[in-house]
Amino acid sequence: MLEELQEVDQLIDTLKAAQNGLQAELAGITQGLDAAREEVVTLEAACVQGEAEKSALEVTHAAELENIVRSETNMKEIKTNKEFQAVGREITAAKKQVTDIEELLLQKISQIEEISTGLAAKKSRCDELAENAAQRTTEKQAEIDKIQADIDASISRRESVTKGLSAGLVKKFTILREQRRGQALAIAKDGYCMGCNMHLPPQLYNNLYKYEELLACPHCQRILILKLQQPQS
Ligand SMILES: [Zn+2]
Repeated sequence: MLEELQEVDQLIDTLKAAQNGLQAELAGITQGLDAAREEVVTLEAACVQGEAEKSALEVTHAAELENIVRSETNMKEIKTNKEFQAVGREITAAKKQVTDIEELLLQKISQIEEISTGLAAKKSRCDELAENAAQRTTEKQAEIDKIQADIDASISRRESVTKGLSAGLVKKFTILREQRRGQALAIAKDGYCMGCNMHLPPQLYNNLYKYEELLACPHCQRILILKLQQPQS
């Protein structure tokens, strides 16, 4: 019964480990999708900012053009040569400004185009990922649920096994299992404990053959199970 208990406990451990692995995969899928979505949001924000900067440049551009027109109108009423030259310099400077702004505008437009292209690619990748993630999530969840059913079945099997054992023994077994990396039992064979590979005192080993009481290995404290050599057939 103890062997069956050990077997079912190991099965539960294995199932839980498999389930944890799947949960981690699920988390990975969600994280990947979140990261892709975040990139889309970042690029969208960059696009909006680029458009705002472009609009600001357009406003300045229009204002400079207006200044030039106003200065050129004023020029017609200028009487002195000195004033004429001063306004002429203003117009030249404003025209230079307009050229510079136009240059910046062109740069901004190509920058926005670049971001938009990247955004479109990122968005379609994100949609693809989302669709894929939905399918994979469903698959993983189904696997997790299936394992959960196995765990539940194993737990009820464990309960029926422990019913046949004393509460004290189950407790001892459980504590031993925790302390001994999942192995509360050890096979005794040829005078050795197979749990820790230490030699068992001959008297103890002989007592195992009496099947009178549960005996523990004095070295690793595991409960000893006697396995006799199977006769060769
Ligand atoms: Zn031992």
